[in-house]
Amino acid sequence: MFNNKELFKIAFKEQLVSRLGKNIEEASAGDIYKILGALIRESIGREWAETNQAYKVQEEKQVYYFSMEFLIGRLLGNNLLNLGLLETARDGLLDLGWSLEEIEEQEPDAGLGNGGLGRLAACFLDSLASLQYAGHGCGIRYKYGLFEQKIIDGHQVELPDNWLQKSNVWEERRADKRVEVRFWGQVEVREDNGRTVFDTVNYEKVWAVPHDVPVIGYEDPHVNTLRLWSAESSMDPSKMQIEGHNSYYRFLDYYRSVESISEFLYPDDSGYEGKLLRLKQQYFLCSAGLQSVLRTFDKLELPYSELPDKVAVHINDTHPTLVIPELMRILIDEKGYGWDDAWDITNRTVSYTNHTLLSEALEKWPANMVRELLPRVYMIIEEINKRFCGMLLERFPDRQDLVSQVAIIESDQVKMAHLAIVGSYSVNGVAGLHTELLKRNVMKPFYELFPERFNNKTNGITHRRWLMHANSELSHLISESIGTGWIKRPHQLLKLESFKDDSAFQEQIMSIKRSNKLRLAAYIAQKQGITIDPDSIFDVQVKRLHGYKRQLMNILHVMHLYNEIKDTPSADRVPRTFIFGAKAAPGYYLAKSIIKLINVVADVVNKDLQVNGKLKVLFLENYSVSLAEKIIPAANLSEQISTAGKEASGTGNMKFMLNGALTIGTLDGANVEMYEMLGDDNMFLFGLRSEEVLDYYRYGGYLARDVYGKDPRIKRVMDQLVSSGPFCCHEREFGLIYQSILDHNDEFFVLRDFNSYAETQAGIDQAYLDPQAWATKSIVNIAHAGHFSSDCTINRYASDIWDIRPVRPSINV
Ligand SMILES: *Cc1c(COP(=O)(O)O)cnc(C)c1O
Repeated sequence: MFNNKELFKIAFKEQLVSRLGKNIEEASAGDIYKILGALIRESIGREWAETNQAYKVQEEKQVYYFSMEFLIGRLLGNNLLNLGLLETARDGLLDLGWSLEEIEEQEPDAGLGNGGLGRLAACFLDSLASLQYAGHGCGIRYKYGLFEQKIIDGHQVELPDNWLQKSNVWEERRADKRVEVRFWGQVEVREDNGRTVFDTVNYEKVWAVPHDVPVIGYEDPHVNTLRLWSAESSMDPSKMQIEGHNSYYRFLDYYRSVESISEFLYPDDSGYEGKLLRLKQQYFLCSAGLQSVLRTFDKLELPYSELPDKVAVHINDTHPTLVIPELMRILIDEKGYGWDDAWDITNRTVSYTNHTLLSEALEKWPANMVRELLPRVYMIIEEINKRFCGMLLERFPDRQDLVSQVAIIESDQVKMAHLAIVGSYSVNGVAGLHTELLKRNVMKPFYELFPERFNNKTNGITHRRWLMHANSELSHLISESIGTGWIKRPHQLLKLESFKDDSAFQEQIMSIKRSNKLRLAAYIAQKQGITIDPDSIFDVQVKRLHGYKRQLMNILHVMHLYNEIKDTPSADRVPRTFIFGAKAAPGYYLAKSIIKLINVVADVVNKDLQVNGKLKVLFLENYSVSLAEKIIPAANLSEQISTAGKEASGTGNMKFMLNGALTIGTLDGANVEMYEMLGDDNMFLFGLRSEEVLDYYRYGGYLARDVYGKDPRIKRVMDQLVSSGPFCCHEREFGLIYQSILDHNDEFFVLRDFNSYAETQAGIDQAYLDPQAWATKSIVNIAHAGHFSSDCTINRYASDIWDIRPVRPSINV
């Protein structure tokens, strides 16, 4: 496209004139962004077409990753990076008077996800393309992504995230590839030449229109597709006259109901969202996605018995589970297959990732709702259930208990996880501990029935975004020290271990961390007008707000530190800056109350001159991918403090590790695997183990009130939540929090782990006093983080689950 900066400048200025009729002097930052984006988007058009052509000609097996969420964030910087054009564009823009960072800020975050699950999908797409796999994303083009969070008077306020307000330079609307999705109606059964035929009549028809986003691989002309579906009305206005004078209002109603399908992302991170609209969204994704997958497959002119050899459909959590009955429906009703063949094909095509052990997050739909909205699909689910339960009773004639435990439809509820397991050939958890807990507890009967289906694939993160793009200084230092091989083979980061005691290297690591901290400090100063000490420990907890993630334990501990400082103001302390970022689901009142508490504590602490220089607390609003990229490279300490057994994997933990932060954490999720590599020398472990937590749940034996009564530090901070004192302005301000701990017996063991947490934190102060030793630990962390690159994760999915190999796009095919 543009191999050097001069060619870049020429192309850029030409585009500016031809597209916007502007000279460089007249252009705004927004103009520059738009032109740069369009330039990149167009320049990869050929590679995009060639990649697709190569897949077709080579008849490669293709993976379709179905996910209700893709938290992709901004694309400009990453696309430039993967195209190898980052430096050219940066230098060229500088000549034209612009900084690339400023231009990147013009791009709205594509926040089409809630948190970890959606971000995982985005990291996977980057790895699939960079490793040259034929793997695509299939999702919904929500008009509004996850809400934008504002903090007003310490409270979370949600604003709509109108990310498409300015046009999206990356997407390509493909009206010619639209498909029809049908809702409602009645099923009519008839006989046709000895075959039973099912026709759905009086259905409502909706167009699903794909918007394709190119997914550019790293330094290879390999471009996959993220296909995002948008709902559009399909009623023909020219026919309205015939239908009578009320038809216009009917049209308006219909129009609104259609548009709403792809209007909003549900802002629930976990927990069951019982909305009809949500079910509609799920089916919309499954039906549209499958139709387009099968259209591509049809071009091969192969029998459907070969579908599993050419197509893998992966479902990211249970949200797209309806692909199973929908594929059955298409094979039986439209392609003429019998039940057994259709079931065999479906079963060998679909694989499923489980993301949660929280029982409230296991999806269930009222059977009536499914039956009414999707009558034919419901019939198929019923038949799957009938056959599955029948098979069980045949094998275990006196185990009616087992049958009701694992049935897909039970007590008028459709259980999506059960359907996903029964209808797929692979079920994976997302970290070793998580998978074991699935097998041993939550999904035990299924594991006993289908042990060969269960496998673990520990999550990963793309080191291209989270290190090369977010922390380019560190990335360059690594390449200078161990060469650039780690970029393609992230395990080579292990070579850094030999530098861990090298004092010159330590100095460089520390100096890069400091400059990242200064940059974050400048951002905070500009946003909030608060100055923070770049030499303090930057102690960071950024993630969705949830009881099990225990932001509450963190802030209670901060309150305790404040109390300590106020008691003995003259005592020496290692200065700390606590940084929080978290969105709470809008209806999750306890979580919102914790946000308020963090903000109140921040206000008190930051204004208190006596603790100034020792303690600061920040809540950064609107945590998102682009904010994460600013915060994580500046962190010294990563808070991964969930109640053991609750966090399926976590990926935030990996991002921090890769950027040289040390972790204070419980033995939960992927922390367990981090600890296996790092040991006590390089990670700060504390708290209950998952077996202990499980034992408490099973056998009882924990009383939060006992801890409260016995530990005066805890009593003091708990009382400060509800009685007048430094943090509480009116009684009951934080009553909900107080009750959740003392009246509802502290479901997440905040008080139980408090002491262990506080002691470990005190140890961290001591460790920080030895900067060399800290730098050694930091280097060891970075060295082992290659293991968590999503490249490694995707290679394991590719070989163990999908059975796919990299494709070399041949030129001139
Ligand atoms: C990585 C990431 C998450 C997931 O963080 P966890 O700590 O694993 O919960 C959530 N949100 C954003 C924006 C992220 O980048």
